Amino acid sequence: MNPGTKTVQRGTHQNPEDLSYVTYKLVRFSELEENGKPKWYFFADQCRHCITPPCKIMAESLHVKAITQDASTGAVLYNPKVKIKEKEFKRIRESCPWDIPRWDGKTQGMAKCTMCIDRIKEGMLPACVKTCPTGTMNFGDIDKMLEMAQKRLAEVKTAYPKAELTGVDFQRAIILFADDPKKYHKFASVADSTVVASMMGQTVLVG
Ligand code: SF4
Repeated sequence: MNPGTKTVQRGTHQNPEDLSYVTYKLVRFSELEENGKPKWYFFADQCRHCITPPCKIMAESLHVKAITQDASTGAVLYNPKVKIKEKEFKRIRESCPWDIPRWDGKTQGMAKCTMCIDRIKEGMLPACVKTCPTGTMNFGDIDKMLEMAQKRLAEVKTAYPKAELTGVDFQRAIILFADDPKKYHKFASVADSTVVASMMGQTVLVG
C-alpha cells in the first residue's frame, strides 16, 4: 500500500496538488468563471492504460525495459525496480498525452497507476473502484462497461448536452465528461462524473 500524501491548505480544493510517485490517482479540480459566476469542474485523473501505450513505445525506443503490458488485462505496468536515467524518464513522461508518469529521485524509478493488477489477479476490484462511496467508478467486462457508459452518457446529455465519452477507441480508462474536457484540466482532453477504464475483456468505470 502506498503512503498517503500530506496535504496543506493552499486556498484550493485541489488536494493533493498533483499526481506523484505514490499518488497514482487524484480528483482534478478546476474553477472557472462563466457568465460572471464561478463554476467548478472535477474529474478523476489516472493512467488510461492505453491500448497502444506511447510511454511503452518510447521506453522501448530508449532500450528501457521498465514498462510491460499484461496480456490478460492490458494493464500497462512500470517496474519501479528497474533503474533508469532521469533524462530517459523525462522522455517517457513527455510521450504520455495525459502527463501521467511520475519520478522518484531517491529510488531512481518511475511509477503510476497499476490498475491494481495484484488485486485483479486475485479476483478483486481495483482499490479505487472498491472504495468509491458514490459508485461512480466501475470495473468489468469491456462490453458491459461500454454499454453502461453509453447509457450513462445518454442520461447525462439530457442535462449537459456537451457531455462526451473519451478514449473509447484507444484507452482502457474511458471517461465521461459532462462538459468540454479542456475545462477540467489541461491534459484531460479526452469525460466528469464518470470514468470508465476498460481492459481487454475487462473495464473500469471511474468517476
Ligand atoms: Fe502510458 Fe500515459 Fe497511456 Fe498510462 S496514459 S499507458 S502512462 S501513455
